[in-house]
Amino acid sequence: MIPIAKPYIGSEEKAAVLEVLESGMLAQGPRTARFEERFAQLCGVKQAIATSSGTTALHIALLASGIGPGDEVITTPFTFIASTNSILFCGARPVFVDIDEETFNINPALIEKAITPRTKAILPVHLYGYLCDMDALQAIASRHGLKIIEDACQAAGAAYRGKAAGSFGVGCFSLYATKNITSGEGGMVVTDDDALAEKCRLLRNHGMQRRYYYDQLGYNFRMSDLHAAIGLAQIDRLAELTARRRANAAYLNAHLKTVITPKVKQDYDHVWHQYTVRLNHGRDREAAVKQLNEAGIGTGIFYPMPVHQQSYIQEKLGTVTLPIAEQLAKEVISLPVHPHLSQADLETIVREVNKL
Ligand SMILES: *Cc1c(COP(=O)(O)O)cnc(C)c1O
Repeated sequence: MIPIAKPYIGSEEKAAVLEVLESGMLAQGPRTARFEERFAQLCGVKQAIATSSGTTALHIALLASGIGPGDEVITTPFTFIASTNSILFCGARPVFVDIDEETFNINPALIEKAITPRTKAILPVHLYGYLCDMDALQAIASRHGLKIIEDACQAAGAAYRGKAAGSFGVGCFSLYATKNITSGEGGMVVTDDDALAEKCRLLRNHGMQRRYYYDQLGYNFRMSDLHAAIGLAQIDRLAELTARRRANAAYLNAHLKTVITPKVKQDYDHVWHQYTVRLNHGRDREAAVKQLNEAGIGTGIFYPMPVHQQSYIQEKLGTVTLPIAEQLAKEVISLPVHPHLSQADLETIVREVNKL
């Protein structure tokens, strides 16, 4: 089976973990600080705050941005559940805006209609590693005085006109095992705002400013040095791993005939966290997935049910209709694009998909 995802772990990661184990200092420490510096450099920003996951990064980024009960946050329904949950954790209300059919990302043309006096922020998601239309989002945000918290969990290394994902608003990344780079589990908040960074650091560690004196309610969302050591080895590989994903996606785009392949607009550096194709309206996805899996090709459905249709979300927020997200949720199939693919794997994927 050609898996849909596979982390790239080499001798550097193994040696780095052993070194931490032998040092006897496992908790958040010097490696985490070094990893934060490197991650800030990657994004071209001043500050990075390492966390225990992408979810906790989003949670403290929203809290530090002042999002709380009574506030509304505009976001996409076509994403991993954590994007929405992080808004709910703050006591705020997610407001879903439909997506663009070509990019799978939030459609900026629909956002202004969703703004109310309670709207405080936009939480766009750079889905599959492809940036949202940040020019349009920044224009809307500045016109209405809204904050932008980017869910860049799938977009480490992605850029728009050379400007990195995560550097347009407050950026949040995941370092989960299947993401483009990993620390096992982990996350990162990035920002140019020193005061916001300080708030994040406090929220990450029980609101503790001075040892065992606490000024506010906080959490344990820390990253351990064991995880940071893996992340540091991975960040050195990011450019190479991304280049491989790009080459794999270019090959698939050039050769797949029976499905709608992803298009990338000029000025966007896509990092291909997922390579996601669409079946034409009305085709049987279950049968297609079965046929590919039987031919040894791993597949993923990201995501089979948009967030606004999940039962607890409907109970909490009521029902809304978002036709593009609902349609695409029925049509998408993600194919392997990860850096381990060989030329033979790519040829197998093309041959089998073209039999659909
Ligand atoms: C992975 C992911 C998250 C959450 O990250 P974790 O590290 O799993 O907590 C949030 N949003 C998106 C879009 C993701 O893909």
